[in-house]
Amino acid sequence: MQTLSFRNDDEMPILGLGTWKSAPGEVYDAVKVALQAGYRHIDCALIYGNEAEVGRALTESFEHGVVDRDDVWVTSKLWNDAHAPEDVRPALKETLSDLQLDTIDLYLMHWPVALKPGVGMPQSPDQLISLEEQPLAETWAAMEDLVDDGLARHIGVSNFSVPKLQSLLEDAERYTPEMNQIELHPYLQQSDMLDFAQAHGVHLTAYSPLGSSDRPDNMKADDEPVLIDDETIASIASKHDATPAQVLISWAIHRGTAVIPKSVNEGRIKENLAAADVDLTDADMQVIAKLDRERRYVDGGAWTIGDSPYTMANLWDA
Ligand code: NDP
Repeated sequence: MQTLSFRNDDEMPILGLGTWKSAPGEVYDAVKVALQAGYRHIDCALIYGNEAEVGRALTESFEHGVVDRDDVWVTSKLWNDAHAPEDVRPALKETLSDLQLDTIDLYLMHWPVALKPGVGMPQSPDQLISLEEQPLAETWAAMEDLVDDGLARHIGVSNFSVPKLQSLLEDAERYTPEMNQIELHPYLQQSDMLDFAQAHGVHLTAYSPLGSSDRPDNMKADDEPVLIDDETIASIASKHDATPAQVLISWAIHRGTAVIPKSVNEGRIKENLAAADVDLTDADMQVIAKLDRERRYVDGGAWTIGDSPYTMANLWDA
C-alpha cells in the first residue's frame, strides 16, 4: 500500500475507510472486516456519533492480533462546537476515550466554522459564532498544544479553501497544518488547491470520493448528477476490468491524495481496497480531467442558514 510521508517520517496509508453515516451496529463489523482485509487507515470524527463502536472494533482487532496499534493510522476531527481554545483538549479526550486510544495519528479541525458549545447541527443562526469572534488561529494554537502533549501525532484541517489555508500557514506559531481533508472527485477536482497544497507541503485527503450517495436527503439536490453512474468512468472501468468505484479511488491515488471511501458492506470494502491495484494510464487521467464540473455534494449549507455569519461565498472564498 502506497503511503504519504509526514514531516517526522510517519507514513499514512493512502487509502483508508470512511465512517460518516456508518450506523451503530454496522460500523463495528465494517472496521473489523476492513482491518482483516488489509486496511491500515480509518477516518473518524466525533460528530459521526460512532467513535465508541469504532473503538471497540479497533481494540478487539489489536487484542486478537489482527493488527498492531502502531500499524493503523487513525484520524479524527474536532467538532465545530469546540473551537474555543479551552474546549479543544476535552474534545480530543472524549474522542480518545471513545476510540480507546492514547494518541490520535491525525487530528483535524473539521470545518472553518464555529458553533456554540453543545450544538451538533445548528437549527438557528444564533447558534453560529463568526470567525471574527472565534478566530481559526486561536483554535489552531490549542491544537498545537495537543501535539506537544503527545495526544495528537499530527494536526491538520478540513474544508479549508486556499485563502484560509494560506492564512493558517502564515499564522501558525509552531506547527503548520500537514493535511487538508476536502471533497475531491472527478466532478470537483479542485486543481488550484492541489497545486497550492503540493507547493506548501500540505497533503490532501479526498473525501466523498464516490459521490456520497447515502448522505441525508436534506443535503441532496433533486437534479444532482450521480458520480458513480458516470458513463466515462464506467467505460474506463470496463477497460481495466475494474468497477466504477475502483476507478474513482484509483484516480485520487494517482493524483497523490489520500482517499477514504466509506462502506459498511464487506464486498464493497474489499472491492475498494483492491482499487489500489488499478493502474490508470495518463490517457485515462486526461479523459477524467475533462469531467470536472465544480460540483460539491457536501456544500456546507448547514452553516449558512438565515442571517448566519457564514455564506457560501465566505465559506469557500469563491
Ligand atoms: P463516499 O463517496 O465514500 O460514498 C459512500 C457511498 O458509496 C455509500 O452509499 C456506500 O454504500 C457507497 N459505496 C461504497 N463503496 C462502493 C462501491 N464499491 N460501489 C458502489 N457504491 C459504493 O461518501 P462519504 O461522504 O461517506 O465520504 C467518505 C468519507 O469521507 C466519510 O465516510 C468520512 O469519513 C469522510 N468525509 C469527511 C468530511 C469532512 O467534512 N471532513 C465530509 C464527508 C465525508 P455502502 O456503505 O452500502 O457500501
